[in-house]
Amino acid sequence: MLRYSAHLPLQGIGSGGQQKICDTHIALIGLGGLGCAAAQYLVSSGIGKLTLCDFDTVTESNLSRQVLYRQSDIGRLKTEAATDLLQNLNPDTEIRAISQRMADDEMRALFPACDLVIDASDNYGTRLAVNRNCLELAKPWVMASCIRMEGQLTLLRPDQPDQPCYRCVYGEAPDTLEDCPGAGIFAPVAGIVGASAAHFALCFAAGMEPPRGLHLFDAMNWHWQTLKVSKREGCSECA
Ligand SMILES: [Zn+2]
Repeated sequence: MLRYSAHLPLQGIGSGGQQKICDTHIALIGLGGLGCAAAQYLVSSGIGKLTLCDFDTVTESNLSRQVLYRQSDIGRLKTEAATDLLQNLNPDTEIRAISQRMADDEMRALFPACDLVIDASDNYGTRLAVNRNCLELAKPWVMASCIRMEGQLTLLRPDQPDQPCYRCVYGEAPDTLEDCPGAGIFAPVAGIVGASAAHFALCFAAGMEPPRGLHLFDAMNWHWQTLKVSKREGCSECA
């Protein structure tokens, strides 16, 4: 517990909450800017088990914001490079890697063993699949996204009655998200939103209740706004 001694005086955590963190298994989907930031705080904070999911390899343009990778990692699988760094950061966390695109089959195999899923992917199809499978398995999940100077974050609780799903919150959104490299992303914004996703996940793991709603971050004006969200009647996914 020496490693986590800074957590122990905190209200809501203490040694009991830290032990819960150490007993928690999180699936992290996407090892881009958001996923890199989230992963390092999850692992440094002692998350018990972390399954890293990404099919991609490291490119030079990733290095501006994907802080788990080094120049020498270019061309390596992100899961491999991330595992090396994270395992060195904290040998106590059990790290597993799935180096393939996550679709329904992969999610159905992985999610039942996890306590929480974090979707940090940049892919709308993946996000809808996470929503669908988390609904089916009543699995809580954190949705994190960022673009340009903006971020979005919410904890969805299909394990609780009358809670909204991703479709309830976003409606019938278009089939493709604007892609980050094309639209641009300011490196620290990815870090801030990714670390915020880790904050939500660690609070959940420790047994605290992260704030409800859809949290919108406007980095240009340095402003967080929380929108109330509720279950939508006639939602194509969960109604
Ligand atoms: Zn819904």
